[in-house]
Amino acid sequence: MSISEGAEMSKIAWIGLGHMGIPMSKNMVDAGHTVLGVDIAEPAREAARRNGVTVVPTVAEAVRDVDAVFTMLQNGKVVTEVVTGPDGAFAHMPAGAVVVDCSTTGIDTARALATEARQHGVGFVDAPVSGGVEGAADGSLTLMLGGDIEHVAIAEPLLKSVGAYIVHVGASGDGQAMKVVNNAMMAVGMAAACEVSVLARRLNLDPQVYFNVVTQSSGDSWVFRNWFPLPGVVDTSPSSHQYEPGFMIDLIHKDLYLANATAAEFGLRLETAAAAQKMFAGASAKGLGQKDCTGLVLGLDG
Ligand code: NAD
Repeated sequence: MSISEGAEMSKIAWIGLGHMGIPMSKNMVDAGHTVLGVDIAEPAREAARRNGVTVVPTVAEAVRDVDAVFTMLQNGKVVTEVVTGPDGAFAHMPAGAVVVDCSTTGIDTARALATEARQHGVGFVDAPVSGGVEGAADGSLTLMLGGDIEHVAIAEPLLKSVGAYIVHVGASGDGQAMKVVNNAMMAVGMAAACEVSVLARRLNLDPQVYFNVVTQSSGDSWVFRNWFPLPGVVDTSPSSHQYEPGFMIDLIHKDLYLANATAAEFGLRLETAAAAQKMFAGASAKGLGQKDCTGLVLGLDG
């Protein structure tokens, strides 16, 4: 919802002010909403304050009289900690308000939290995103929504401040299901781009010419184009900024774990996703877990 559209302004809580939460909450402020923010890390809180977010110490204080609570946290365990229990969002937010979880948590977490939300008389929408920190910064994210229509109807107008393509996929967990399949392909593509780029380097192919040719050829992909893993070619790629995230290796590894574990529930084995998970686990074991996922090349080429 933007001011120019004359939409009603809302009061929202934003829990998790990290690589994605910072630009997304800024877009909420810029759209005219009142945003109360919470994070356990002071640098994150400071960055949010500079963007006009009112930082408060606890989740309970942040959610007390809001229309919606947005969460953008690492994984399902952290989201569950933040929204459930006596100090969690469900216990303190007004009846009828909605938690919109933009984190990647997996299908089971989303379904469990939607059930628990109902018991508290509040709503829960799983709304994982795609588009990276670049999409978060320019408000062009894709959002995949799972939940009851009355809760999605509250979430969707607010999400227009952070996303350009917003789809109600289906019932609770279905947004996460869509995210699982998207990110399995993204992560396999990232692993392939990294290992082949190591080969391109060994072949002494000029990185710029290699990028130009592949983006005009059948090897092109979203990750290759936007997150080119060799430095100095794509200015906006984390590879050109000492591999600072962006999207951390530990998070892409989590997404591959979710994809492979979900497939296993259906008796399926995703061979390429299993190989990619092993590659990112190897990078994590080498101490690269907090680097951007393009930093997989660092672990492969040395
Ligand atoms: P991040 O680690 O940068 O941000 C998470 C933030 O949550 C941190 O600032 C951390 O201090 C805070 N936090 C942790 N525990 C908390 C708690 N108990 N209470 C309050 N704050 C707490 O991660 P990110 O890159 O912003 O990713 C967030 C989610 O979005 C993940 O699920 C990720 O898989 C998904 N995602 C990330 C990207 C990306 O490009 N970074 C893209 C799409 C989806």
